[in-house]
This record gives sequence, C-alpha cells and structure tokens, in this order.
Amino acid sequence: MEIFVLRLGHRPARDKRISTHVALTSRAFGAKGIFFSTKDVDLEESVRDVAGRFGEGFEIRTGVKWKPFLRDFQGTKVHLTMYGVHVDDAIPRIRSEAKGRMLVVVGAEKVPAEVYQLADFNVAVGNQPHSEVAALAVFLDRLTQGEGLRSEFEGRLKVLPCERGKRVVDRGNAG
Ligand code: SAM
Repeated sequence: MEIFVLRLGHRPARDKRISTHVALTSRAFGAKGIFFSTKDVDLEESVRDVAGRFGEGFEIRTGVKWKPFLRDFQGTKVHLTMYGVHVDDAIPRIRSEAKGRMLVVVGAEKVPAEVYQLADFNVAVGNQPHSEVAALAVFLDRLTQGEGLRSEFEGRLKVLPCERGKRVVDRGNAG
C-alpha cells in the first residue's frame, strides 16, 4: 500500500515547526509523500534537506488545491479527527477495503465540513483533542502493524542503533 498525507490549513507564520513534524513523521512512519494546501517554500526546503541527508524518495508539495485533490484522489481517503470512529474499530474495516493507495488527511485549525463527506473513513485516535502529529503516528503505526517504522531509507547518513551515544555512518565519506 502506498500512503500519502494531506495537511490542511497550515499557517506558515504559526505552524512551521509542527508542519515540519507532520511531514517528517509521515516519512518516518512509511508514507511516500505529503501535500499541503498552503504554499510554503521554506517548509518544502527544510523537509527536503532532511530527506536529502537521511534518504530521498519522499515527495513534498505545497500550495495544492485541496478540494479537487481530495475529491479526485484515486484510493482510500482517511480523515483523522477526534469526532470519528475509534481507530481500533476503524482499522479492520480500512484494511479490508483499502487497496493500492491511501490518502490520510490531517488538519491544523478547524477542518472544512466537506472533508468529513469526501473522506471514506473519519477516524479518531481516541475521542479527545490532541495533536495531528500524535494522531498520524498512532494511525500509521497501527495501520502498518509496525512495518512503516522499519522502512529502509537509502540516504547519505545512516544511523546505526546502539545502546548509548550516537553511531552514524556518512556514506558520502565512504572510500
Ligand atoms: N480544533 C480543530 C477541529 O475542530 O477540527 C482540530 C485541531 S487539532 C490540533 C489538528 C488536527 O489534529 C485535527 O484536524 C486532526 O487531524 C488531528 N487530531 C487531533 N486530535 C485527534 C484525535 N483525537 N483523533 C484523530 N485526529 C486528531
């Protein structure tokens, strides 16, 4: 399954840090790309900078016209919202119905009402308000049953897990 994320309502002056986290979390948990409804070249650059060092192959595009993009997306559309169906109840249905591609939608401020209608599934990571980063991480991890976190990234920098300290191979310096 190829997973993409659509981030609605990003406000460049306020949301730069959290939107960067939304993008990097999407990437780290196995999504193939992220789309933002607001144009923000700085955001694109900072995410591409990380991907450039730790592994390419993650698409980021900002300034996307969200309504036609969401309406016309070929694949399963999942909107993460505290008002939706609990993730534990939704995931088995999503797994049995989703094929090929998936678009996961997260908001920033209030999400337009049409999103609830355009989505195939409105999914709650618990029915309390929290964060788009947390919602995305839990949803992607449960959906992929942990496999997303094991994605391989062929980057210049490779982190070698260790008990203490930091071990990083810089393949750009390899003989
Ligand atoms: N107040 C906004 C509203 O009523 O739509 C939500 C703001 S919240 C900080 C930003 C995004 O986090 C939401 O659009 C949603 O995608 C996600 N989110 C927050 N809590 C969630 C939850 N319990 N389950 C799923 N997604 C959640």
